[in-house]
Amino acid sequence: MPRDYYEVLGVSKGATPDEIKSAYRKLARQHHPDVSKDPKEVAEEKFKEISEAYEVLYDPEKRKLYDQFGHEGVNQQFGQGGFTWDNFTHFDDISDIFGDLFGSFFGGFGGRRSAGRSAARQGDSLRYDVAINLMDVLNGKEIKVSVPHEAPCEPCRGTGGKDGQYETCSKCGGSGVATMVRHTPFGQMRQTAECPDCGGRGRTFKERCRECKGSGRTRKTSTVDVKIPRGAEDGMRLRVPGKGDAGINGGPPGDLYVVIHVEDHPDFKRDGANLWTEIRTTYPRLVLGGEETVKTLEGEKVALAIPAGTQVGSVLRMPGKGVYRYGSSVRGNLYVRVFMDVPKKVSDFERESLEKLDGRDKPAKKRRFGKK
Ligand SMILES: [Zn+2]
Ligand SMILES: [Zn+2]
Repeated sequence: MPRDYYEVLGVSKGATPDEIKSAYRKLARQHHPDVSKDPKEVAEEKFKEISEAYEVLYDPEKRKLYDQFGHEGVNQQFGQGGFTWDNFTHFDDISDIFGDLFGSFFGGFGGRRSAGRSAARQGDSLRYDVAINLMDVLNGKEIKVSVPHEAPCEPCRGTGGKDGQYETCSKCGGSGVATMVRHTPFGQMRQTAECPDCGGRGRTFKERCRECKGSGRTRKTSTVDVKIPRGAEDGMRLRVPGKGDAGINGGPPGDLYVVIHVEDHPDFKRDGANLWTEIRTTYPRLVLGGEETVKTLEGEKVALAIPAGTQVGSVLRMPGKGVYRYGSSVRGNLYVRVFMDVPKKVSDFERESLEKLDGRDKPAKKRRFGKK
């Protein structure tokens, strides 16, 4: 039985991609077969296990499948026999950590080194934070966000070559990486380095694009339409595919993640689909029953019946006056906590009535307070 991916990486079910990445990098530093103290086979298995977990949990699509269907959900993504290094798309993380160690490790796996090391790389994913209010939670909202990012260079259509002209580097075959074999007293050492002919691009140009100097990308602020669904929760991340940084050397673009912050409201607190508010009413209305007007989130004034004998602090329910839970088309309730207004000044009539009510017009003995 394969272990739970979250457990393998030691992260919570709600971990952010950044947390997952850093958990993986930390574990990779421990379990990489070149540095692990475990026997080689054990280390290799362990390293593969954490890499598989990272491959799934870092990818929002795969992670969703895994969260819904478990290992069954992602196995088909990897083909027969499950995860292999061919399925791994984050060699950059490993090479970042280990530099040349990476080369020797994959050398040991029989020349897989080119699998993940094409010069083409996916662009970075970006994060954009947006604040919305409770009315936006109720109605949903379509917004336009201005995202500064690396966009594909227009004159060269993202290729880096003048007028879009380029050739695949013949020295490295487009991988951007050259392998050098050195003979040392300890045996053959294979080292990988940036291809000297193409500078790691995997492409050569007769003439570089002047606009982007051959990178294929230019800095630009793009406007992106984002649809915030009704019922959006604080901290929710909306993925806008392909709206992050443009890919490098023909790689796919990264994604844009819009992170939602729901602002506090002065009169309403939200609890999922329900809202909570407070009203103040009078002592007679609490005792005898009556009616108060409650302003809903939309500003609508709605009558609320106060039943006779309502206690201070009790909660009355107004069905359907809440907001939506994300993914649901049914509005929650508005819960109204009832407090009592205690007047600081009273009229003569009120004073008399209250004194009567309190029994102060009777001889002291019969008063309802004091000694019983
Ligand atoms: Zn090259
Ligand atoms: Zn260009």
